[in-house]
Amino acid sequence: MWCVIAHYHELALKGRNRSFLVRKLINNLKLATSDLDIIGIDSLPGRIRLRFTDETSVEPLWQRLQRRLSGVFGVANFSLAFSSPISPKGDLSQLKEALGYAIRSQQFHSFRVTTKRGDKRYPKTSMDVSREIGGHIKELTGCQVDLTNPDLTIYLELLFESAYVSFAKMAGAGGLPLGMSGKTVCLLSGGIDSPVAAYRMMKRGCRQIFVHFHSHPFVSRASQEKAEELAMLLTQYQWRSVLYCVPFGEIQRQIVLCVPPPFRIILYRRFMIRIAEQIARRYRAWALVTGDSLGQVASQVPDNLTVIEDAAHLPLLRPLIAMDKIEITAQAQSIGTYETSIIPDQDCCTLFMPAHPAIRPKIQTIRKLEEKLDADILVRQGLGGVYKQEFRFP
Ligand code: ATP
Ligand code: MG
Repeated sequence: MWCVIAHYHELALKGRNRSFLVRKLINNLKLATSDLDIIGIDSLPGRIRLRFTDETSVEPLWQRLQRRLSGVFGVANFSLAFSSPISPKGDLSQLKEALGYAIRSQQFHSFRVTTKRGDKRYPKTSMDVSREIGGHIKELTGCQVDLTNPDLTIYLELLFESAYVSFAKMAGAGGLPLGMSGKTVCLLSGGIDSPVAAYRMMKRGCRQIFVHFHSHPFVSRASQEKAEELAMLLTQYQWRSVLYCVPFGEIQRQIVLCVPPPFRIILYRRFMIRIAEQIARRYRAWALVTGDSLGQVASQVPDNLTVIEDAAHLPLLRPLIAMDKIEITAQAQSIGTYETSIIPDQDCCTLFMPAHPAIRPKIQTIRKLEEKLDADILVRQGLGGVYKQEFRFP
């Protein structure tokens, strides 16, 4: 019987929370594979098993599963495996027979056997089993054992009454299962950075609610279309998403009317935060997330980050703060958002954008300027015009 065995590692450390986390991971695996021919996903000691039907043609399903599983956070590695019964008393003859059959499809001159016991009640040690099975394979094929650089590694995982055998381990996405760290609201511009920020928070277990601010009809719909596309791409990692598009042009116009150019960008950002926080409350999200990276542009120098953050009541998380553009770009490429992010658009902040933003603003100055505006009305105005979209994957 073929199946996939998925391992988790960070979870193993989490003591009493563990069963909750494993259930979460199983549920996420179900969402990620909902359209594939998987008949069940269950928890075995220390690992998770995805079962196929007997009629499944294994290879095409495995190809699709590899792509899907590599986007499931909390999975450390996974492998295509077949199972064989073993006797709890230590007799391995059925396993030897199954292995003898399976290795015929493998090309190798040297090999090693790596055994792990998932159930310590099993009477033989891992080393004993590796030796015994290794001896058998050697006899059967004439191939040599090579512990350091073998052509083929045979991974054995022994549970109490069955063994799982695989020939390769694929790296998983790592991190923590999505949802175990609650929800956060990600301010998603059309740029390179914020989708990467969203991804990194997802990897730490936070489901993202996306919020995009646009200045349509002052500019084209391009930034909204990019935000939609990016939200859809990121949905591969969380399977259900919502994106709120908030009209921001009128708010910017009000700001422009009473705020001198160097301070405008700071006020734009502070209003974005206020509006995003209201959306966060609807979802009981515990924090906001932005793609700020220290010093990247004027609005991301220390004093500006500080006065912008002052508008927030919820924690404002900036997962990219210590990454440079090259690192962020490389990650955007690897998660598949880069190509969309570089499509030209007019972000709302390029509209009414001052040539020289202030870089050492005083918080008192900013608060004084905001007194000239009715913050509550502006926030309500933005929220009144939101357009909500939902995304699903697969
Ligand atoms: P990005 O590549 O994500 O656009 P950036 O380098 O262009 O980032 P800024 O434009 O200064 O940086 O924006 C900093 C952060 O503020 C963004 O990463 C994003 O989280 C948020 N932000 C900026 N503009 C918008 C917007 N129009 N809608 C939603 N969030 C925004
Ligand atoms: Mg931007």
